[in-house]
Amino acid sequence: MSKRRRIYEGKAKILYEGPEPGTLVQHFKDDATAFNAKKHEVIDGKGVLNNRISEYLFVRLGEIGIPTHFIKRLNMREQLIKEVEIIPIEVVVRNVAAGSIAKRLGLEEGTPLPRSIVEFYFKEDKLDDPMVSEEHITAFGWAHPPELDEMTAMALRINDYMSGLFTGIGIKLVDFKIEFGRLVENDMVRIVLADEISPDSCRLWDADTDKKLDKDRFRRDMGGLVEAYSEVARRLGILMENEPPSDKSGPRLVSSNED
Ligand code: UDP
Repeated sequence: MSKRRRIYEGKAKILYEGPEPGTLVQHFKDDATAFNAKKHEVIDGKGVLNNRISEYLFVRLGEIGIPTHFIKRLNMREQLIKEVEIIPIEVVVRNVAAGSIAKRLGLEEGTPLPRSIVEFYFKEDKLDDPMVSEEHITAFGWAHPPELDEMTAMALRINDYMSGLFTGIGIKLVDFKIEFGRLVENDMVRIVLADEISPDSCRLWDADTDKKLDKDRFRRDMGGLVEAYSEVARRLGILMENEPPSDKSGPRLVSSNED
């Protein structure tokens, strides 16, 4: 395949120009970063797993009426997406205390929260993505009040749906981060779910043992990241039993119907 024009390169993904106007190709790299890229490693097979897990979740969310940028998976590492204007806000939904909320509020990791909590972070690496309030977001014009309401409502629906989905496969959805974009269609602007949802952007714990099946394995030097992501894929039914996840030895992920 001829190499397309690179539009943007992030820490774990590259965006290329798509085959048609208004489309992009989202390429999942094997790079893992944490602490605002101060820690970096290449982990063979991670991109393949995230591509497939994110595809699965975006398709399921689309089925329940969440509008998304996802069009279709192209190959092991790439998906075709609609081009959107990314809103510079990371929306985090939390069900159980972990990571920054545990530290900030002095909560023991693993403490269930009284209810699901939505937080906003301003996407700005130079500032280490500071937490911001709705007031900041609307005052600085990063999103308009109705957009923010829509993002919050969608984030909570996504949380409800994904909590149930993961509970069904013996996994606790502790927290996750999502991003939204503005999609222009027929002179209308719609807010759609964008970016990715994968074990890089969620905290996923085994329901029985609390074993971490997410990027904390990398952040905390626990090892076994690819095995953990494979376990998530396997439980979601998108990776065959006993299959190593590497794409070096050919495709091993179960292909989906739409291919
Ligand atoms: N998260 C993310 N990207 C970020 C920051 C956080 O995907 O830039 C995810 C993270 O994986 C976790 C959730 O958002 O699932 C909440 O993260 P937290 O605020 O606890 O941040 P951390 O201390 O893990 O960076």
